[in-house]
Amino acid sequence: MRNIVIVGASLAGTRAAETLRAEGFTGTITMVGDEPHKPYDRPPLSKNYLAGEWEAERIALRKPEALEELNLTWKLGVAATALDTADHTVTLATGEQVHYDGLIIATGGTVRRLPNQPNLAGIHVLRSLDDATSLRDELNAGTRVVVIGAGFIGLEAAATATKRGAQVTVLEGLEAPLIRALGAAMGRGIGEVHARNGVKIRCGVSVASINGSARVESITLADGEVVPADVVIVGIGVAPATGWCEGAGLTIDNGIVCDATLNAGVPHVYAAGDLLRWPNNLFTDVEPLMRVEHWTNAAEQGAHAAKNLLAEMDGGERMPYEAVPFFWSDQFDARIQFLGRVTADATAEVVAGDVASGKWCAMYVANDRLVGVLGVSMPKLVMPSRALLSTRTSAADARAHFARVTAPPA
Ligand SMILES: Cc1cc2nc3c(=O)[nH]c(=O)nc-3n(C[C@H](O)[C@H](O)[C@H](O)COP(=O)(O)OP(=O)(O)OC[C@H]3O[C@@H](n4cnc5c(N)ncnc54)[C@H](O)[C@@H]3O)c2cc1C
Repeated sequence: MRNIVIVGASLAGTRAAETLRAEGFTGTITMVGDEPHKPYDRPPLSKNYLAGEWEAERIALRKPEALEELNLTWKLGVAATALDTADHTVTLATGEQVHYDGLIIATGGTVRRLPNQPNLAGIHVLRSLDDATSLRDELNAGTRVVVIGAGFIGLEAAATATKRGAQVTVLEGLEAPLIRALGAAMGRGIGEVHARNGVKIRCGVSVASINGSARVESITLADGEVVPADVVIVGIGVAPATGWCEGAGLTIDNGIVCDATLNAGVPHVYAAGDLLRWPNNLFTDVEPLMRVEHWTNAAEQGAHAAKNLLAEMDGGERMPYEAVPFFWSDQFDARIQFLGRVTADATAEVVAGDVASGKWCAMYVANDRLVGVLGVSMPKLVMPSRALLSTRTSAADARAHFARVTAPPA
């Protein structure tokens, strides 16, 4: 009887478990997760769940009967604390050691905190169901909410808090919102969507301190200005949750470094989801190793890692994971969709609509080829460009494509 251990009982882990069963694996699957909950979906945590529109049952990743059918051995509410790849064991916080024949690491990301972030009531992060529950209890009409960090999670939380009647200010250290995800010009466009809906977006400011006694009261900026706050949301990104598997012979450098098959450099050990970097063959010319923090990637990689682990155990062929990354984000009435990557030197060109109207599509070029397509409330133009991205279409051909598909009918 073989045992496959999955560490991280969330999206990538669940998809891995389902795939193992779907591929006919009949051995034991042990699912280790440090949260007490059965797997749930994170995107609603900053949207419908935070808005109070949905309850926890609605965001379960799978119905209880579907999980039951997978016949998993659950170890929930307990963290993995160490990995020994020579002995094939995962040590848990309880001291228990779990032997594995195959291992899938899917521990995702841990929220970053500010240096010297005080421990005051009213200061929140937003990664888990418990984070979202404690935050939503505090979002009321008139509450002064300050969001630190204008990334996707911060901006989604800002939009939801505004819809709940809070007065929201977003503080961002860089020159525009969403710079890392979309570049400055397009990020500014999303910032304008927020400004039109009453969010105060302040870029190029840095936080000197968060103040209060038992509860947060204000934020002091580097220039001495004091911004009052009843609630603070620290949304400054996540770090790969790899601390527990350090020292196990894996290469860890901004995530677990894997090969193209998602193998973590050790036989029978694979990784999936937010915590790994791998050479995505469709993009290695512009980004040799890629780490993606999006839902679709985690789901697909969970399934892919499971298939490759079984192939390795059974002497079959392992396949590279090659994909055009995709994400979506909902902020006010803007549905943001993005396919591809925004590399450091990518430039954006608006190919349809216009930023001022809040509806537009932009293509991103790097290395003289198409690397990304952004749509803001323009769903029809984004998804059909997947084929262009996966075939490394030249910038000129991509421009011609968008000119053709956006031309008014003759
Ligand atoms: C609020 C929010 C909104 C989002 N919205 C979108 C969206 O609109 N679109 C989109 O594309 N993506 C979105 N995402 C991102 C998406 O949810 C993630 O990419 C996805 O959850 C990653 O899945 P994962 O399984 O790799 O990791 P995670 O979902 O982070 O799961 C990892 C699990 O492992 C557990 N764990 C960590 N360390 C240990 C340990 N040592 N031992 C045991 N367990 C451990 C964690 O607690 C967690 O339960 C959002 C994320 C958040 C937080």
